[in-house]
Amino acid sequence: MTRTPLTTSLDGYEVWFLTGSQHLYGPETLKQVADQSRQVAETLDAASAVPVKVVWKPVLTDSDAIRRTALEANAADNVIGLVAWMHTFSPAKMWIGGLDALQKPLAHLHTQANVELPWGEIDFDFMNLNQAAHGDREFGYIQTRLGVPRKTIVGHASDPRVQQEFGTWQRAAAGLAASRSMKLARFGDNMRYVAVTEGDKTEAELRLGVQVNTWGVNELAEAVAAASDSDVDALVAEYEELYEVVPELRNGGERHQSLRDGAAIELGLRSFLEEGGFGAFTTSFEDLGALKQLPGLAVQRLMAEGYGFGAEGDWKTAVLVRIANVMGAGLPGGASLMEDYTYDLTPGDELILGAHMLEVSPSLTTSKPSLEIHPLGIGGKEDPVRLVFTADPGPAVVVAMSDMRDRFRLTANVVENVELRHPLPKLPVGRAVWKPAPDFATSAAAWLTAGAAHHTVMSTAVGVEVFRDFADMAKLELLVIDEDTTTRDFQREVRWNQAYYRLAQGL
Ligand code: MN
Repeated sequence: MTRTPLTTSLDGYEVWFLTGSQHLYGPETLKQVADQSRQVAETLDAASAVPVKVVWKPVLTDSDAIRRTALEANAADNVIGLVAWMHTFSPAKMWIGGLDALQKPLAHLHTQANVELPWGEIDFDFMNLNQAAHGDREFGYIQTRLGVPRKTIVGHASDPRVQQEFGTWQRAAAGLAASRSMKLARFGDNMRYVAVTEGDKTEAELRLGVQVNTWGVNELAEAVAAASDSDVDALVAEYEELYEVVPELRNGGERHQSLRDGAAIELGLRSFLEEGGFGAFTTSFEDLGALKQLPGLAVQRLMAEGYGFGAEGDWKTAVLVRIANVMGAGLPGGASLMEDYTYDLTPGDELILGAHMLEVSPSLTTSKPSLEIHPLGIGGKEDPVRLVFTADPGPAVVVAMSDMRDRFRLTANVVENVELRHPLPKLPVGRAVWKPAPDFATSAAAWLTAGAAHHTVMSTAVGVEVFRDFADMAKLELLVIDEDTTTRDFQREVRWNQAYYRLAQGL
């Protein structure tokens, strides 16, 4: 069977740079428009904050060319979005057909070729050439009138803030591209009786493009049983290289077989995912079939490689973990399933301790994880092997997805991972300890008001702005809890959103 290894890199993607103008100005001016817009595109492309290749397209001067460009962008899988700039005045009716046809994310770059006004040189030829200040207003009107979701980025292409905003938008567009091509394998159903991990999989495929389907866990167990001894040997050697393996699990240790079983689970899981072309998966401790252990180590390592994962059948969080991995590609930090577990309620210094029973990605740490084995009180299987570590201190964001029946709601909290106040010698799992913004009480009250889940994706690679851009382009609701949040305003936003999203979706 063919196996397709997962790619999480942004290298193959393109964003097309479109320039709007018209024939009114004559060929000489249009040539200058082309030269200058090519320079703007090159400046953006060369910026280190801009991770996806920017491809300049010839200046657009009529409806037919604009529509054709939109259709070509729709058809090209590696084109994740378009950025448009009206260098001169581009009468916007000529954009109606193209914008109406466009199915890729759009950024509106409001810029101009020069930084400073050349005061002593300005004549009316200069004014005719450099009139994005009103050309982009005409374009803004038609986008708003047509209801086109887009990000408007204002400033000179050489400004680091502009480059950063554009790069952030590109990362979000890459997340959407990954979502639209994602296949997700569920082993087992949702944990029995749990509400928030449920959701409308048909709606998810329409909104996000992700295909969510279920396989019997014994198909996975068969793939695990098919792992060869030599492959297990090689993988165990890799573990001993990468992690602090506890003596009982090492070659010759009394529980070494458990580590070999864990390696076989990784090999089987990987072959199943690669043969099916999956980018994300879920497991369920209530449905382990012939698997000897609840997959822990394997899940942790696959998440760190870019796979999405949700525990207890939580496919919505698995989608978020995959998207966050793609959006953060190439940046320090990572993305992981996370679960709010327990608190330190010391007044003024409250902390949230997050973890999961096994499945936290080691991409959250730069230290060397410890590979250990401990009993697991649930699932009724053998003791599972797992990586134990603490997430690095630093800024992070946690994001949850809830199915509100008529829409998906994302809730994001800006947080700060902190150093452990004291060691956690008896906690045998990967974990993070954080302070939520704006403060613990406001954050938790807002989170509960939003109906946001206990499962989240934690990203230490990207911030809330990427999720904001993603939500806009995917037309998802996003509630943000950050340093500006107050309980009263948040409650109002939740209430208004109920009305807004129902009206915006029509009948
Ligand atoms: Mn859980």
